[in-house]
Formats: sequence, structure tokens, C-alpha cells
Amino acid sequence: MNALMDTYSPPDLMFDRGEGAYMFTEDGTRYLDFISGISVNALGHSHPKAVAALKAQAEKLWHTSNMFKVRGRYELAEKYTRDSFADRVFFTNSGTEAIECALKTARHYHFANGRPDRYRIISFTGAFHGRTFGAINAGGNAKYLEGFGPRMEGFDQVEFADMEALKAAITEETAAIILEPVQGEGGVRAFTEAQLRQIRQLCDEHGLVLIYDEVQCGAGRTGKLWAHEWAGDAQPDIMAVAKGVGGGFPMGACLANEKTAASMVVGTHGSTFGGNPLAMAVGNVVYDEITKDGFFDHVIEVSNFLHQQLAGLADSHKDKIEEVRGKGLLVGLKLREGFLNKDLVVAARDRHLLIGAAGDNVARMAPALNIEESHARDAVALLDEALGALKSA
Ligand SMILES: *Cc1c(COP(=O)(O)O)cnc(C)c1O
Repeated sequence: MNALMDTYSPPDLMFDRGEGAYMFTEDGTRYLDFISGISVNALGHSHPKAVAALKAQAEKLWHTSNMFKVRGRYELAEKYTRDSFADRVFFTNSGTEAIECALKTARHYHFANGRPDRYRIISFTGAFHGRTFGAINAGGNAKYLEGFGPRMEGFDQVEFADMEALKAAITEETAAIILEPVQGEGGVRAFTEAQLRQIRQLCDEHGLVLIYDEVQCGAGRTGKLWAHEWAGDAQPDIMAVAKGVGGGFPMGACLANEKTAASMVVGTHGSTFGGNPLAMAVGNVVYDEITKDGFFDHVIEVSNFLHQQLAGLADSHKDKIEEVRGKGLLVGLKLREGFLNKDLVVAARDRHLLIGAAGDNVARMAPALNIEESHARDAVALLDEALGALKSA
């Protein structure tokens, strides 16, 4: 019996509890989790501090809406802005809502500056920005757009990282450029640091708003708080975050600099649940944990180890692996033609290793950020077995 919409086709596998880098089924079978609910459980499962914060908040107050002030909301916004390009924050419940807020803020900035004709948004092929109408139109993936009515006006798309095509696509009507510094769904593809700086420069030259979607690659996953920090002064004007920032509690945020946020005043945007006390309790703990001394050093160390191990794996399975991609603990294995990423996901799962599939025939890994080298070693050993058993499709 299944009363759910058939929008997903999960395997016949249900988890009962999680602990650190592991999840357990009802009968106690242990799985090594190297996908973390798609880059979400940044601190692993059942992190004691996150559990304690959520329990304590649950016993005090669950929800008040935005009709009243929420202490945790001010605290977390203060932290987000203290340590980033941003001056203002709008809290959401998900990534796609953070994207909606980003798109609206970018357009409204031009509107408020007397240029309502500047509303077009440029994105890159392979982008994924979520599943609401604005987000599927920005993402531009035909598969996600089909059947849902006419395409929304005002979205243009250019080939991934094609700088000449990007320049050619900019017109008087362009409002913003949106991109993921490291594409997740699109196949774990990173823009180079030079490309990000070049895009920032283009935005400055043309008065465009630069939007980063760090829903998947942010929150410490690449070894810096935000992935774009690797590129130095290629800061965005607006950034959407979610997934990892809540460590498993549904939350997201749209961060913006003063310039673009200035016109987002009372009545321009809203959310019933965004910045809810429960979400803020967890969001604050996640932020404090990932920004504490040495945390990012650990992410860099363990991810260097993982990449080095995966390079070895790619070497011994040259016939099946074309490339190891990604940054930090957002990692992709691109398979050669004839082998399917989905088959590798199944083969790994059969060996109690959880990974995910992404676009471009890539198998994706996004373990908790606090894993140890031993977890990486175990995962690579299981992948080695899975690859050995992988048959051509
Ligand atoms: C997952 C994701 C989204 C959408 O987030 P939801 O919480 O599923 O709405 C947007 N952008 C990127 C890069 C993502 O990975």
C-alpha cells in the first residue's frame, strides 16, 4: 500500500536511528552514511549538542511566527553577518525558499532603483536551485520544467562556466547572475576560483547582482565556511543557504548585503515558519560547532585523505572511473560510459555504504563533516568492492 505521491522511488530500506556517521535499520543493521541526507547532516546523526538544544527548546516554545521577535533568530543572523559578506538575513525552511527570496531580492533591488526593466536572471547549465516555480525556471532543467505550464519569463541560461557565452548573454534587462560555486546535482562540478572572480568583475561592470546558491556546498563542506571563500574577493551580493546549516533540522536562509537588502522592507516578503524557535536552536548549535577552532582544518585534512584514497581507487578501476571531482567533502566519482552511477549506488548500498547519484553519471558523496580518516578508509574499501562487482549497463 502506498498513499504517497510517486515522486520518489526509494529502495525498500528504512532507518530507525542514527549515530555519528552511521545509520541503523530496525533490525540493527549498520550502514556507513556517506551522503548525509544529501549534504545535510553536517555534524553526523544525533549530535549530542544539537539533540540537547532541540530538546531544551521543545520544552519551552515551538512556534510564534514572525509576528513576534525570536531570540535565536537575532543571534544566528548576527553570526551569519559577522563572519561573511552579508549584512542582512531572511530565514526560510528550505533551500528552494532561500532561492525564491534571493531571486525576489535581486529583482526588487533594481525595481527600487527605478529599473523595473532589469529583471532577467542568468544561470548555468547543470544548475539545481530547488523545485518551486522560480527555482525550476532558474535551474532551467527541461526535465523539471516539463508539464508545469509555460516557462516563466525572465530566465536565461548559458553553458556551464562559459565566460564568453555569459558576456554575450548580458543585456540591459539583466538583473542578476545565479550560480552554485560547486554544482551538486549537476554532477559535483566546481567553478574555478579565477572564474568566480571574473564573474564578480562582470557583475560590477554591468551593475548586476551576483547570487550564490550555497545550499549544498556551503556550511563548511568544502573546508571553508562558505565555498566561495576559496576565491578570495569573489563575494556575492546575495547567497542562499540551507541543507547543512540546519544539520538535519529543516531550515535555510537568504543572506544579502545592505545594498540589495535595503528595499526588502515590511510587506515585501514573508514566511510563517521561517526562523522558527526550534530551527534557530539547532541552527545556532550547528553554526557554533562548525566555526569552532580547528573544525575546518579537520574537514580539509580528512577530505584530503579521502581524495587521495579515491585517486588510488580511480587508478585501480581505470576502466570504470573517469574522474574524481569536487571540493572538500562534496565528492563525485564520474563513471565511464557503459557504467551507471545508479548501479554503483546500489552496489555500495548492498555493502552497507550509502552514497548518492548526481547528474553527468556521477556518484556523489557528502559525509558528515566530522568523520574520521577511519570512516573514509572504510568507505573507500567498500567502494572498491562495489566497483569490483559493477557490471556494464
Ligand atoms: C537541495 C538544493 C536546493 C533546494 O533545497 P530544498 O531544501 O530541497 O528546497 C537548492 N539548491 C541547491 C544547490 C541544492 O543542492
